[in-house]
Amino acid sequence: MIDLHSHTDESDGTRSPAELVAEAVRAGVTTLGITDHDTFKGYDQALPVAVEAGLELVCGIELSTKLQGHSAHLLGYFLDHRNLDEFRAWVTGQQAARRDRNLRLVVRLQELGFDVTLEEAESRGRGMTGRPHFAQILVEKGYVANLRQAFDDYLDESAKGYVFRREPQFAEGVARIRAAGGIASLAHPVRVKGDISALMPELRASGLNAIEAYHSDHSPEDTKLYLALASQYGLRVTGGSDYHGAIKPNVTLGSVRIPEDLLDQLRTSVG
Ligand SMILES: [Zn+2]
Ligand SMILES: [Zn+2]
Repeated sequence: MIDLHSHTDESDGTRSPAELVAEAVRAGVTTLGITDHDTFKGYDQALPVAVEAGLELVCGIELSTKLQGHSAHLLGYFLDHRNLDEFRAWVTGQQAARRDRNLRLVVRLQELGFDVTLEEAESRGRGMTGRPHFAQILVEKGYVANLRQAFDDYLDESAKGYVFRREPQFAEGVARIRAAGGIASLAHPVRVKGDISALMPELRASGLNAIEAYHSDHSPEDTKLYLALASQYGLRVTGGSDYHGAIKPNVTLGSVRIPEDLLDQLRTSVG
């Protein structure tokens, strides 16, 4: 069983890299992609543990990018995880931009009357603190009923607490991933704003290799549509659960069934 989309607590998941490997083995996953947001720290720590456990690990990352002015997540898969120095340095710069956003988000939330500090958020998210950690704090302090409300009322792009974050353009993300020898895949296309079918020519022109047809947010109809679009535009497909641990308790590793030969298909696309 393969699962190419998962997060550790080095980004916004709740499992440590070692716990994630153990969880994958328990779930019967034989090939696991770790795709933390803007960091390889989880993958780096998981690698020796996975080797020990006989689990095949795929080096991945998830980037936040801008596509026609809206946020779009982009997955990068590096089937050869060596020689990524230049890309890793670029990713470190992205982390600095995220921290800058977090500082401004704290100021904004304080303006709205919430008792929230950067230290509190960073104690949860460590190096990769993001909006889910602020959402947790708002829930814990009783400002909102649940995580969904925290996003809907304050943290989502259209909500009143949202602060702008400098993010690379989608095409730049694709170019960076490919320059590093990676495979670029559009993450969970169901969350992309606008008509995905109409966006496809632009996505294809950016050099995108694949789209994530299989994902825990996708209905069978969604998956069918993305498979058809991939085939129409000559793209590969990727897939995974987008496992985050306890923060999304109903999404378990390996819960999204994807074809066993999917990784081999990807391999042929980078020849
Ligand atoms: Zn995502
Ligand atoms: Zn993800």
